[in-house]
Amino acid sequence: MHLTQVKERYKLLMIKIAIQKSGRLADKSREILASCGIKIRRGGKLKAPAINFPLELLYLRDDDIPRYVSTGVADLGIVGENVLLEHAPETQVQLRLGFGQCRLSLAVPQGTAYTGLDWWKGKRVACSYPNLLRSYFSESGIDASVNYLSGSVEIAPSIGLADGICDIVSTGSTLQLNGLKEVQKILRSEAVLISSPDLSTDQQELRDKLVYRLESVLYAKRNKYILLNAPNRALDKIQAILPGMRSPTVMPLATEGWSSVHSVIPEDSFWEIIDELRAEGAEGILICPIEKMLL
Ligand code: ATP
Ligand code: ZN
Repeated sequence: MHLTQVKERYKLLMIKIAIQKSGRLADKSREILASCGIKIRRGGKLKAPAINFPLELLYLRDDDIPRYVSTGVADLGIVGENVLLEHAPETQVQLRLGFGQCRLSLAVPQGTAYTGLDWWKGKRVACSYPNLLRSYFSESGIDASVNYLSGSVEIAPSIGLADGICDIVSTGSTLQLNGLKEVQKILRSEAVLISSPDLSTDQQELRDKLVYRLESVLYAKRNKYILLNAPNRALDKIQAILPGMRSPTVMPLATEGWSSVHSVIPEDSFWEIIDELRAEGAEGILICPIEKMLL
């Protein structure tokens, strides 16, 4: 298709993406879109258009995002999995976004002689995620009374409102401050991109374009570019250590018997790989961040 025809087609077409207006996911949601090259016009309070992509941002409370997306008011959304599973568990997750990591856990007062999940039978539990917790208890065969509180869940036991709580935990310091201890993780959560089930074919094309950009940005964040010098006798072993995209690039060095090896390694097993490479005689190891990785 000719460029002007493409522009003509997309002029009428738009996808609306709902993100948290303010709160823990708000900045990161804007940042990840910015790292995909999407520039958002400043100033909009409830919504704002992108300048260089057929996209409009809707700024919402995170609790409303799953419903807006599952009913098609917004086409896409960025929200914590915990909130998604509470409000619209049937909604399809397009992509896990690698930020907003936390866990939903059960906690009890510190002095409690906790005996395991059975302890919760017949207890009162305060929680902001009642649907999620009820289905967890019912799958575990626990009959407990789940009471909804919209916030400050962690003070419920100390004022006699509940025997224990279920809440979001990241470091555990809030629990400790309130005399509670975490006894059971029930969900690991991170921010995810969700999609409405009712997108037109053209909108799906736009969504896929955005997902492709996000995947490239996430891949780049999770990997590093590595350059090293290796003695030729160790090349086979060194190549076997390096996962690479396909296989590492190997180029001869001016020094006889040595080569330069280039590859990509995952951030999470970075130090283990470096240790193995050094043990095989790799020298002059250089690690560089990757700006974008087009898959
Ligand atoms: P809103 O005003 O939009 O309803 P909120 O107060 O319900 O916001 P935030 O506290 O901003 O929500 O948290 C948004 C999401 O961030 C959580 O649902 C969770 O997925 C994620 N999150 C990550 N770390 C934490 C944490 N330490 N405490 C709470 N939420 C966290
Ligand atoms: Zn909320």
